[in-house]
Amino acid sequence: MLIIEYIKAFSDNYIWLLKNNVTQTCIAIDPGEAGGVLAWLQVNANFKLEAILITHHHFDHTGGIKDLQKATNAPIYAPQNEPIAADFALKGGENLALKTAQISVIATPGHTKGHLSYLTCDNLFCGDTLFAAGCGRIFEGTHAQMYNSLLCLAKLSPATKIYCAHEYTLSNLKFAQTIEPHNQIISHKLAEVKILQAQNLPSIPTVLADELQINPFLRCDNPSLKQAACLYLKQNLTDELAVFTALRSAKDNF
Ligand SMILES: [Zn+2]
Repeated sequence: MLIIEYIKAFSDNYIWLLKNNVTQTCIAIDPGEAGGVLAWLQVNANFKLEAILITHHHFDHTGGIKDLQKATNAPIYAPQNEPIAADFALKGGENLALKTAQISVIATPGHTKGHLSYLTCDNLFCGDTLFAAGCGRIFEGTHAQMYNSLLCLAKLSPATKIYCAHEYTLSNLKFAQTIEPHNQIISHKLAEVKILQAQNLPSIPTVLADELQINPFLRCDNPSLKQAACLYLKQNLTDELAVFTALRSAKDNF
């Protein structure tokens, strides 16, 4: 059975750990720091680190690679066109038959050029592409690329659990509420997340079915979201990409 755990890193990063009780192996995703993972491996001493999966090259996702590899020899799976010393360079579309889990690799460029997401049994590890109630900033790709990546993730099973790499939910929900002040589901989620944060508990994973009702970046084709965005941004936004682009720029300055 697959168990998913997390380690917090820096101020708001999550390093996700997948462990399989049957094979006694585990996978670490985006280890921005090694210390927490090495301590976790000591506690879970009967689990062998089978692989390190990387979504993109930013330091807060890769900073722990060297020390982890030195300690465990685990191979690195990472995007092919990014500055990462990968043992297995991936471009998206691959299926990784690992002992811990079968992983489908999905190309999700936009935040960075080669950004990848990893899917296993309705669990999606999407780095800095899709966040709870938000999406990543566009650093290297284009808005169209990022929007297409999000559309691709939006087509997954509605039951998909979204394990993003940052705890940005509260700020994302506040932005979503600013755009759609009458969306009751956003208000409920906001109240829920405030309670979790007060107890220092993560708001992640979120579920895709919920995201499709609250996440403005997944709903740019929704007529009521589009109307709300035009009203808030005081712009006449004609198509869904224009809505996405304007919303993303507004969030950059929120
Ligand atoms: Zn990043």
